Amino acid sequence: MDLSYTPEQDAFRAEVRTWLRAHVPAQSLPSFDTREGFEAHRRWEHELHAGGYAMVPWPVEYGGRGADLLEWLIFEEEYYTAGAPKRVNQNGIFLLGPTIMEYGTPEQKTRFLPKMAASDEIWAQGWSEPNAGSDMANIQATAQRDGDHYLINGQKTWASRGAFADWLFGMFRTDPNTERHKGLTFILVPLTLPGVTVRPIDQLDGLPGFAEVFLDNVRVPVENRLGGEGQGWQVAMATAGFERGLMLRSPARFQETARRLIELYRAHRDSADPAIADVVVDCWSQSEAYALETYRTVSRLLGGAKIGPEASLNKIFWSELDLRMHETALRILEERGQLLPEASAAGEVGTWLDGYLFALSGPIYAGTNEIQRNIIAERILGMPR
Ligand SMILES: Cc1cc2nc3c(=O)[nH]c(=O)nc-3n(C[C@H](O)[C@H](O)[C@H](O)COP(=O)(O)OP(=O)(O)OC[C@H]3O[C@@H](n4cnc5c(N)ncnc54)[C@H](O)[C@@H]3O)c2cc1C
Repeated sequence: MDLSYTPEQDAFRAEVRTWLRAHVPAQSLPSFDTREGFEAHRRWEHELHAGGYAMVPWPVEYGGRGADLLEWLIFEEEYYTAGAPKRVNQNGIFLLGPTIMEYGTPEQKTRFLPKMAASDEIWAQGWSEPNAGSDMANIQATAQRDGDHYLINGQKTWASRGAFADWLFGMFRTDPNTERHKGLTFILVPLTLPGVTVRPIDQLDGLPGFAEVFLDNVRVPVENRLGGEGQGWQVAMATAGFERGLMLRSPARFQETARRLIELYRAHRDSADPAIADVVVDCWSQSEAYALETYRTVSRLLGGAKIGPEASLNKIFWSELDLRMHETALRILEERGQLLPEASAAGEVGTWLDGYLFALSGPIYAGTNEIQRNIIAERILGMPR
């Protein structure tokens, strides 16, 4: 294995770094879980897109730059090091986009990908329902064929950024009479259609980061179906592979947190419990190991492989590491960790506290870690159900 970068990759890194230095907002944007912050993040996405950096590995005709996945990893490293804003359209660009590349018709690619890259259309993921979280095959929302439309009825919940998003991709039951996994179809739904009601839900930090979405006789054209009728499970598993296995949480995010954790430890070294040093070093090593593992995955993908059940190992690894790093930071901050972020003595508390609250959800979203362990047991280790 050759772990050095080519001159072209080094040049690409330098170009990205220069652009980000000139463009990343000096003040952090308001949270994208508010209307104001959501639109501020959309404007940032427009700027990224104008610079050609919205989704570097996508073909130029779809709003990308025709780079490969290794260059995407380099871009991500520079992006997190520069402290650039979170990606408000992550459900689109990291999850649905690659799925459309794999399953979309040429018309769907042309219709959806450029607007997604530009964040003119921002997407929410509509999989979970009140009785279909871990048990996703229990989805009850229906899509009934009516000529050249589907008539959609039901309820989705926990749709991240659904309160402000433009579109929702979801799975719906098109055939109630077949086996649970087989009667599902993947459909793209504009949230502006008559019959759609979006109700924000406050998350742990009090902001409306989620929505529940009620669909009441919503008419969606058949051309919004991704993949075949009844093929929804298979299409959704490709989306989940990108989500858990590669794109949603690139290693740079955790390497940057590890770097900040080391800085925090150094600043509090005199007062911190000396045993914490080992934990900090271990977190740093794990973030580096995750980066190397991701380089390996990308090399495999460039060689023609597909993401398989090992995506579950990945998801457990990054979510548990993220939580551990934030818990360690709060240990270092000791009682200061309980200060309100705006208190004069709070220092970096706000960032770590916010990060901690979000890290708590890592073992839940993208499929809980218990479910990932079931997948590993059955599909990688070959254990009985
Ligand atoms: C921050 C965040 C963002 C999210 N964003 C979205 C989104 O954008 N779109 C979307 O559709 N959903 C989203 N979700 C929902 C998420 O996918 C679900 O919360 C998750 O799949 C679990 O489903 P549930 O909440 O219904 O819990 P349940 O499925 O009821 O699970 C409850 C507990 O039982 C355990 N459990 C259940 N079944 C088993 C089993 N067979 N074996 C072992 N343990 C089991 C679970 O691990 C969990 O601990 C988000 C969740 C969070 C926290």
